[in-house]
Amino acid sequence: MQQHQPHVAILGAGPVGLDAALACADAGWPFTVYEAADSAAAHVRDWGHVRLFTPWDLNVSRRMRAHLPHAPTGDACPTGDGLVDEVLSPLAQLPALKGRIRYRTPVAGVARAGLLKHEQIGTDTRAAAPFRLLLDAPDGEETAEASLVLDCTGTYSHPNTLGLGGIPAPGERALHSRITRTLPSVNGSFDRWAGTVLLVGAGKSAQTAARDLAALPGTRLEWVVRRPAPDWGAVPGDTLPGRQELVSTAQALASGAHRRVSVHTGAHVHSLSTVADGDRVLVRLATAYGPREVLADHVVSLTGYTGDHTLYRQLQVHECYATGAPMNLSAALLGAAGGDCLTQPATGIAQLRSPEPDFFVLGAKSHGRLNTFLLRTGYRQVDEIAAGYATVEDPRRLGGFVSRTEDPARGSSP
Ligand SMILES: Cc1cc2nc3c(=O)[nH]c(=O)nc-3n(C[C@H](O)[C@H](O)[C@H](O)COP(=O)(O)OP(=O)(O)OC[C@H]3O[C@@H](n4cnc5c(N)ncnc54)[C@H](O)[C@@H]3O)c2cc1C
Repeated sequence: MQQHQPHVAILGAGPVGLDAALACADAGWPFTVYEAADSAAAHVRDWGHVRLFTPWDLNVSRRMRAHLPHAPTGDACPTGDGLVDEVLSPLAQLPALKGRIRYRTPVAGVARAGLLKHEQIGTDTRAAAPFRLLLDAPDGEETAEASLVLDCTGTYSHPNTLGLGGIPAPGERALHSRITRTLPSVNGSFDRWAGTVLLVGAGKSAQTAARDLAALPGTRLEWVVRRPAPDWGAVPGDTLPGRQELVSTAQALASGAHRRVSVHTGAHVHSLSTVADGDRVLVRLATAYGPREVLADHVVSLTGYTGDHTLYRQLQVHECYATGAPMNLSAALLGAAGGDCLTQPATGIAQLRSPEPDFFVLGAKSHGRLNTFLLRTGYRQVDEIAAGYATVEDPRRLGGFVSRTEDPARGSSP
């Protein structure tokens, strides 16, 4: 068996990556967190102006509280910035984590050293080979090894496109730089968002943007929604008031209650092109009432996010053909289809496992195209990993150092 230094590589210092780092620190496992941005929780910071609809008690894990006893508690819902400032940044500064996080170091790829994707399928040889990571470090490319890899890179930097059927609409790629694909902070930005805004999408991010844009006096909103009769994700008897409020606002806008807002349900973007003045985008819509054209000063596409699956294309990760989530987890989630994200079943380590030993996709990315992910779910996943590997008291036995038959955490993966 090849000898290598046992090490856990955590990809991404978002909330789930940080929670995983705490789990490693608690267990005494050597670990490194590789973070693309120059600070922790960069994705949450990107939508920091947005108020979460889940309260502090659901947003801060048990482990985080143990390390940060003064972390806020209770029913109030923080903004993304509040969560970063009061919990996630302070956690990243703790001695247990600080020197372990490598910022500005995106992971470009993960493989098994010496093995291609199709080689050593399900063998001990594969399990014993170290993972090899390619890093885009500040001073150039580097490689690193690991025996256990947790991909917590989230989804927010990989937005979906806006065309029919999920592929780009004609003209969309050429106008890429003109399309906003993250949740804009519009409050008070009268000039920035003056004129006509074309918004595509119907999920909670689009609902948030629609609510905020509708409040700007100099903005006309043309909102394109794919479903003919969207339910806006309404949950009967919703216990999360922030989410209920978004649904109610979307329903009111769709009912025509707002004179500066038109909601085109059962519609899609047919194509986009520039017009002679170069400042505006001509958007052709296919609507239930026939074709329509909108001259948009701004185009905002909030059609969801799916994460970078190319990172592990050389690994034997079995993804669901429908959701893109790891297969076992996807099957469990689809089995609970239709459920509210608050009532998603807790998954065990067996659901998190894929045929590639000791490689796990955790956090928002683990749900693929399903929009049922909550922070609480990610923290539970970390619990499962910590419990599954808890029998590995000697860190030298992490990953390929443990024979598959003697390690109960490996279970019966193929
Ligand atoms: C607008 C919005 C509102 C939300 N509101 C709620 C809510 O109210 N309640 C709730 O429970 N959930 C909410 N979510 C869903 C979910 O909890 C968040 O998306 C959360 O940030 C997911 O945490 P994560 O750690 O999985 O990933 P992320 O927070 O996305 O963190 C991933 C990290 O990985 C880094 N990274 C990315 N690629 C690489 C790479 N190749 N190498 C190294 N690092 C990389 C990123 O810079 C980032 O720091 C919301 C999501 C959005 C977008």
